[in-house]
Amino acid sequence: MMNFKDFNISDSVLKAIGDMGFEKPTPIQKMAIPIALKSMDITAQAQTGSGKTLAFAVPILENIFIPDKSPQAIVLCPTRELCIQVAYEITKIGKYIKKLKILAVYGGQPIGKQTRVLKKGVHIIVGTPGRVIDHLERGNLGLAGVERVVLDEADEMLDMGFREDIEFILTNTTFKRQTLLFSATIPSDIKKIAKNYQNNPKFIKVKNKTGNIPKITQYSFKTHPKHKFDDLCKLIEAYDIKSALIFCNTKKGVDFVYKNLKKNGYSSEALHGDMTQKTRDKVMNKFRNGNVSYLIATDVASRGLDISNLNFIVNYDVPLNSDDYVHRIGRTARAGKSGFAFTLVTPQDENSFANIKGKNKTGIIQKNVPSEDEIDAIKTRKILNEVKKSLKEDDLEKYVKIIKKSSSKNLSSEEIAAGLLKMLREK
Ligand code: AMP
Repeated sequence: MMNFKDFNISDSVLKAIGDMGFEKPTPIQKMAIPIALKSMDITAQAQTGSGKTLAFAVPILENIFIPDKSPQAIVLCPTRELCIQVAYEITKIGKYIKKLKILAVYGGQPIGKQTRVLKKGVHIIVGTPGRVIDHLERGNLGLAGVERVVLDEADEMLDMGFREDIEFILTNTTFKRQTLLFSATIPSDIKKIAKNYQNNPKFIKVKNKTGNIPKITQYSFKTHPKHKFDDLCKLIEAYDIKSALIFCNTKKGVDFVYKNLKKNGYSSEALHGDMTQKTRDKVMNKFRNGNVSYLIATDVASRGLDISNLNFIVNYDVPLNSDDYVHRIGRTARAGKSGFAFTLVTPQDENSFANIKGKNKTGIIQKNVPSEDEIDAIKTRKILNEVKKSLKEDDLEKYVKIIKKSSSKNLSSEEIAAGLLKMLREK
């Protein structure tokens, strides 16, 4: 049984990993770290949640030369949110390395602030390709000392049109560099990048952190455009969904679902690419902290997000392709936990959904949206279970006395119980 000590890494990194509470390396870490520590290139098929950040952070941190205050490693990520998340994780793993400087650079934040930090000297840059290029063009950033480049969520970056930027960055760093590529899917354009810009890469593939198929229960529900929104509400009620990330294919769809959920008393927020970065950050934090229950988002806005304890993903719209489906449902069941992914399918979606189903080997089970009566029964059962639990836990003597006192010929204790149940149900 392998543990982090077996990697022969520095005490400072080991100690930080211990502080984070990680006991054993995940499969991707087991496979990638020893190879990466030998400065070899890697193409890894791994999803967010697999522990890939630590897998590339360790070899980067083990090779940083602190007295040289120029960038020695660049991690490229598709979104600002992922940049922040990755920079934060590397900071935690490197917290015992004195004077280590890590900077996240991304669009949406004033460039001046990032420039000032860059000028003071930074060892590791985590950035979106666009903003990294921006700093290069302004002369704020030199690539001469960059020995390691990580392409994180490479498929997403290509999908988002960052190909040229990535290629520019790769061609302007030394050919002796180490290139670590991580991607949830490996389509042909990723293979091309690997072929053109990597040096004899080792190919690694893991399914998820535990090495098994993710523990995601996937259900699809047949619906109709006319009652799609009502069906969403029914699912929320029937499955007692306290919190969920709900995907729509368009910004318009996001706004529609968001407004209507709000109107129906569900605490919700919208997240899409047209919002300012500041608002997006705010919304994300609210959702992460549990201050908002339902986040309705487009694919782009939610790429790479690591939201712990997210149990439910709902595809309000069927995603456009199988890769998007994999990315969406990958937001749940993270760090070895389990989760649910629900998809609403209208007759118009049948074909594209059949395609997704065909490619998705882990199995999507078709279910019916529960009827009003079924939801009613579920809700009552829930309350009665809570009552049963409270009967076991509490000293009920006091309440029994009150009921005895209150019941009379006209009002039996049974009727009092029924009245209370009705009140709770209609609350
Ligand atoms: P990532 O795939 O890098 O987004 O990581 C997914 C989550 O797993 C993050 O919250 C990490 O902090 C966590 N994680 C990374 N490595 C380990 C490990 N060896 N044991 C337990 N959790 C880990």
